[in-house]
Amino acid sequence: MARRSFVAGNWKMHKTVGEATAIARELRGLVSQLRDRVEIAIAPPFTALHAVAKALEDSNVAVAAQNCHAEVQGAFTGEVSAPMCAEAGCRYVILGHSERRQLFGETDVGVNSKVKAVLAAKLLPIICVGETLAEREAGKTLEIVSAQVRGCLNGFSAEQGKSFVLAYEPVWAIGTGKTATSKQAQEVHAHIRGLLTAQWGEGVAQAVRIQYGGSVKPENAQELLSQPDIDGALVGGASLKAADFAAIVKAAPGA
Ligand code: PEP
Repeated sequence: MARRSFVAGNWKMHKTVGEATAIARELRGLVSQLRDRVEIAIAPPFTALHAVAKALEDSNVAVAAQNCHAEVQGAFTGEVSAPMCAEAGCRYVILGHSERRQLFGETDVGVNSKVKAVLAAKLLPIICVGETLAEREAGKTLEIVSAQVRGCLNGFSAEQGKSFVLAYEPVWAIGTGKTATSKQAQEVHAHIRGLLTAQWGEGVAQAVRIQYGGSVKPENAQELLSQPDIDGALVGGASLKAADFAAIVKAAPGA
């Protein structure tokens, strides 16, 4: 089954509202001719979500939040809920990014609760998994990724799962300039698709997009994105410049 490529940019804690809207407008112009051929999203910081969503209105670039809380509202100082992200103009929420897991103690159980909140707000999750360097070197990559995928997806039906996006992001490749080889990445992506088949059956597993993330750049995007089970990219550093991000988007099959 041909899956529509999906390239998303994670801006992390970068860009003021003014900077974010300027890049969003530039990107909008650079990818407007790709309408419908590849799915595109950018994830600015919370402060810029609404302004960026306005700047991208009626375009082919969607907006994603980088995180959300599992509750709808309450005494959770400093947190933002999924309905708030929806109101700000988001279509997606990135969940379980390795920086959230490593720096803020997020767990698979916590991500699982956030996925529920995201679906309840009629948003779509981009669920990140990936092993550390020590885990890869210990030969535990597939075991770790399996546990993360099972934990994050536990309890969701095939009907819910078909709209999920997963992102395989080896922690050792994030922001380091070290990219997984296309063979390394494809091996894990195929394994993840096998887990999806076990949980939801072949039809849903073949429909779910699995992005690769970890030092994706214009120079290596085409090789990675041409692998059979790599359906797009989650891009950090290289998404901060509209021209670089647009070049990655254009390297996606079908773009
Ligand atoms: C990320 O943070 O999701 C990421 C993949 O970062 P980078 O592209 O900078 O490695």
